[in-house]
Amino acid sequence: MKILHDIHTHNLFSSCCTDYTASTDAYLQKEAALGMRLFGLSNHIWDERVKGMSYWYRTQTIARAEEAKNAFAHAPAGLRVLFGAETEYYACRDLLGMSEEGAAHFDYLLVPHSHLHMRNEVMWEFPEVIEARGAIRERLRAAFPELSDKQVTAMAAALKEPDLLPLVPELRTEAHAYIVKAMTDSFLSLMENAAFRKICGRLPVSVAHPFSPCGVPHAEKNDYLKLLTDDVLTDCFSRAAALGVAMEINISAVREVNPDLSDNQMIRIFTRAKEAGCRFTFGTDSHSVKGLELISFGGEIAQALGLGRSDLSELVADAVEL
Ligand SMILES: [Zn+2]
Ligand SMILES: [Zn+2]
Repeated sequence: MKILHDIHTHNLFSSCCTDYTASTDAYLQKEAALGMRLFGLSNHIWDERVKGMSYWYRTQTIARAEEAKNAFAHAPAGLRVLFGAETEYYACRDLLGMSEEGAAHFDYLLVPHSHLHMRNEVMWEFPEVIEARGAIRERLRAAFPELSDKQVTAMAAALKEPDLLPLVPELRTEAHAYIVKAMTDSFLSLMENAAFRKICGRLPVSVAHPFSPCGVPHAEKNDYLKLLTDDVLTDCFSRAAALGVAMEINISAVREVNPDLSDNQMIRIFTRAKEAGCRFTFGTDSHSVKGLELISFGGEIAQALGLGRSDLSELVADAVEL
């Protein structure tokens, strides 16, 4: 199967995109040159109607993102274009970064559950780091009695995990198990989130890079994923299938685990998803014009999973070649 759609792409609107040629128009031209049938733009977006966005999302809002639609009017003939978003889910607060009203601006949504590098938003920091942060807060309070509690808390909260880890004498928490549990819990709580369930009934939704532990060194990802049992995966995917939520086959995430698919836990994970009745969409998660070429690996992954057209979400089922 040749994959002729890519609905996970970030252009310059996303803060993490550093390819200064990555305009919407450049993407459309590149997709046409690659012979693609369907292109979806899915920048990182937090709906400005939802309170609680982090500083990183402050400029990545719907009103600003809609500028891309201007380029869609000039899409090359034969290329279907969709306006989507990769929104956010803060599992720590069970908070979806998209309202029902906001979702109405999009043709589809990608919802991630595993941006684990967003500590204390998607995943709670390690208990020892919480302890170290508390100790720093107390020392700051003693050193600056003129500051309010709010100011002291904000100062202590500004330190990142790498700043605090040197103060942790010993990490007693088993990091692999802790991270994998956080990733599983975030998937399960997303499936129960009321806002998410409402949106799922209104437009096509895929879970972005399911079970890809973002922020973990690439070389260790395969080992992390071995801790996910088949039973846990089947439970998670059965809930998603019941909601009609697709799973995204994120080509970057699969290749980060191992470009050799014969030793790649992502293939086992997607096999469990397929057995549970989930359908799929493909995306490169490209942050550059050149990165769109990664879609050429989609066929190899589809073959490893034994996918047919009926395994694909209706949104993209036409955009493959058998
Ligand atoms: Zn993501
Ligand atoms: Zn992405």
